[in-house]
Order: sequence, then structure tokens, then C-alpha cells
Amino acid sequence: MKILVINCGSSSLKYQLIDMDNESVIAKGLCERIGIEGSKLTHKPTGKSEFVVESPMPDHSVAIQLVMDALSDADHGVIASTDEISAIGHRVLHAGMIYSDSIVVNEDVKRVIRECFDLGPLHNPANLMGIEACEKVMPGKPNVAVFDTAFGMSMPEKAYTYAIPHEYLEKYSVRRYGFHGTSHMFVSGEAIKFGGLDPEKAKVIVCHLGNGASISASIGGKCVDTSMGLTPLEGLIMGTRSGDVDPAVLQFIMNKEGLDINQMLNILNKKSGVLGMSGGVSSDFRDIAKAAEEGNHLAEVALDAFRYRVAKYIGAYTAAMNGVDAIAFTAGVGENDVETRKAICEYLGYLGVEIDDEANNCRGKNQVISSKDSKVKVMLIPTNEELAIARETLALV
Ligand code: ADP
Repeated sequence: MKILVINCGSSSLKYQLIDMDNESVIAKGLCERIGIEGSKLTHKPTGKSEFVVESPMPDHSVAIQLVMDALSDADHGVIASTDEISAIGHRVLHAGMIYSDSIVVNEDVKRVIRECFDLGPLHNPANLMGIEACEKVMPGKPNVAVFDTAFGMSMPEKAYTYAIPHEYLEKYSVRRYGFHGTSHMFVSGEAIKFGGLDPEKAKVIVCHLGNGASISASIGGKCVDTSMGLTPLEGLIMGTRSGDVDPAVLQFIMNKEGLDINQMLNILNKKSGVLGMSGGVSSDFRDIAKAAEEGNHLAEVALDAFRYRVAKYIGAYTAAMNGVDAIAFTAGVGENDVETRKAICEYLGYLGVEIDDEANNCRGKNQVISSKDSKVKVMLIPTNEELAIARETLALV
């Protein structure tokens, strides 16, 4: 069975066609600049050479049609016709408090995605456009919505409730949701399998460290806490996001600089994190590490603070679960940055964490990086959100 996985942004569309018989990627690609001049499709069929289509894409339906044409193209294609695609799995950001699992799309599901536009203003409208484009171009094929917030829905009330007047939860569903849910679900599941842990009881902390960064605690694969909140701004220090700050900082800076709340949130989302802390060096962790190595003090502090905050959260989540069996690192930094993994684990000696430097010197594959004597199994588990979405889709169709 072949499943198409779609991740739609407001002007972009990423896709992967996955053969679920062996979970292999048949082709993947990206449409850029949808709705603006210079639209372009880059299609990468596995084992064949990549090709680029430059053609106007006024909307997502045109983009999807071009993807279908590319997939079934006589020369570069990978399938004879789109009939071979059994279902489409969509990454959808926010389901509010309504869905805690993936679901086959119908009119009710689309209404919920629409009702959550204000909770996910950048993503939900684009995600819905992707679904509607697939409905138009491939009528009758099942579309499945896989929500980024679903994993966090199993958090207990004490973890998801903000200490603000209750009426805001009642009236506007203001609570902690958590994001990167598909990644946390996938990695915690893989960590349990790969680490040979008890699937019902394993206490696992997943550190998803990329440009966007978040951390989760789960017991038997069910999330009990996660660091992002109502929006992805809460929690860890990220490439450009501040993570946790005293909310009074906002008022203080806004008064001093004459900013409105939208400008302030833009600063916290796009100009903070290691980019802001380093005085503008970069939001890319490789650049930050290089600048720190070359003696840039602010870059050094940014990197230290990033690692320190991850270690603090690991401590908090160990307390939340009254123990931890495994810690898994994933995403761009987590999968590749040997030094960052080591530095974070150095804070965790009190938990009996011991890293094996040789094992840790690896990238991009499942690997136990703790020593045989370590009291907690530390692992590197590459995330694969597309495969996770395809598995969820397969399970529902
Ligand atoms: P996102 O999906 O949130 O954009 P990724 O998971 O792709 O982020 O991670 C991107 C980040 O991973 C970048 O900041 C990049 O610098 C970092 N990264 C990739 N390779 C390395 C490496 N070898 N060492 C340190 N950081 C790395």
C-alpha cells in the first residue's frame, strides 16, 4: 500500500510517497512559493535523478496537481497512475481540545481545523488548504489528519493547566497543548522498542532539539508533560524562540521601546533564542558552536544556556515521573551534535547517567550512547515524522 504524506505551509508543500510494505520512501519533494511569483517544484524520486518544475502555482490545488503529474510522469515518475495511492496523511498543527488521535477527514474534522485557526494561525489554514486541494485533485481518496497536538492531550490537568483565572480555559481553551507531538510519539515508541524497555511502564524523556526545540516526558508512550504550551513559544531555548520568560519582561520592554504586543511576540518568536542571545550571530546551531569555539562570548553563553535549560527540564521531568528509564535525543541538533549531547548528560551524573564517548560519537542512526553501567539508557533516535504520519494513516484506512 502506498501512502502520500503532505505537510502544507502557507506558501509551501512538502510531500513523501511511502511504500508501507517496507516503509521505504519512493519519492519526496517540495513545492515552494505557492501563491507568489517564481513557484517551483523539486521532485526527488528515490534512485533516480532529481528534477525541477518551474510553473505557476496560484494555489495549493495546482501544486498538488503538479505533484501528481510528477509522481506519475513517464520519465521521472514512480507510479503508473495516482490510483496506486491508497490514502493521504496530512500533518495538521492544532486540534484544540477536540481530538487526541489522528482521524479520517470528514466535514466535522474540517470544521474543527477551521475552528482552531486562531490557535494555529500560521499553520491550520495552510493545513486545511492542503486537505481541500487533495480532495479536489483526488476525489474519493481518504485523507487522514495527524495532529501535532494529539500526543500532548494525554497530559494530566495539573500539567496542562496554566495558573491563570480558570475562565480563560473555559471560554477560550487556553491551556498547554505541546507541539512536535508526532515526533515525540514516534521517538518515544522507537526508544521503547530499540532500548528493549517495558512498553507499558517505560519512563522516557525525549529531547527534540532542532531549530524548534521541545522536550517530553511519557510513561508507556503516553505523554505526561511536554515543554511547549498554548503555542510553540514556551519551554526550551530555540533557534529564534525565547522559550520560557517572565511575562513581565514583555511589558517592561514594550514600555521602554514603544512596541505593541504583536511586535513583542514577533521578537520572542523570530529574533530571540540563540540568535538573539548571541547578539545576532545566527539561529543555526552549527554557526553558534563555531562562533563559540572562536571565542565569541555571547555565542558561548547562548550555547551553554541552551544546554543548561534542556538539563533543567530533564531534571523536572524525572521528578514529574518519579524516575526515568531512558532519555532519547532527536532532530537536527539532537541527532548530530555530539558535544551538545555530552554537555547535557554531564549535568545528569546525579541520575547515574554515564555516556560512552565512543558510542556517542555517531550521527543519524538509532544508537545507545550511554555506557553499560549507566543507570539510565541514553539513546540517539532519529525522528521520522513522515513515517509516523504514514503509519497513523495506514492504521486508520
Ligand atoms: P527544524 O525542523 O526545527 O527546522 P531541524 O531538526 O532540521 O530543525 O534542526 C536544524 C538544526 O540542527 C540547525 O540549527 C542545525 O544547525 C542543527 N544541526 C544540524 N547538524 C548539526 C551538527 N552536526 N552539529 C550541530 N548542529 C547541527
